[in-house]
Amino acid sequence: MNNPFYYVIIKWVNDMELNELLKELDTNLVIRKIEKSDKILYLYCDIDCMIVECKYCGTESHSVHSKYTRTISDLPIQNYQVKLIITVPKFFCTNEKCSHKTFAYPIPFADKNSLRTNRLDDYIYQIGMKSSSLDAEKQISGSHVSVSNNTILIIIKKSSP
Ligand SMILES: [Zn+2]
Repeated sequence: MNNPFYYVIIKWVNDMELNELLKELDTNLVIRKIEKSDKILYLYCDIDCMIVECKYCGTESHSVHSKYTRTISDLPIQNYQVKLIITVPKFFCTNEKCSHKTFAYPIPFADKNSLRTNRLDDYIYQIGMKSSSLDAEKQISGSHVSVSNNTILIIIKKSSP
């Protein structure tokens, strides 16, 4: 798995490089704005995608119905927690026979309703499997990921074969 500190070599103040990094998650992801607090880097992102296939019937649509915002935590960068605040488009399905009138852009890097990217869950899982959950919580928060003991247990349970 990736070491989250591979980010260390990235000069994240350079938007272009940060954009490239986010494209590992989804090539359609584009950073619109960056904000920084003491501990958290907020990356406001758009989905740059004009045509999407309806996930129910496969018909292509370029007709945007609405947009909503989703906040998803990602792997840390240097000493910062990372939160992606993504404006997600919803499209009309133009196929009259389709069972759905609209569908949301399918985010490929996080489970439906998840507050974390899959790669962040993988990271938490790897540490959680190696140590007791209390040690894991300490270790994970030491690496600038905010996650509760309870969430660690849920991720281990979900990811275990
Ligand atoms: Zn459809």
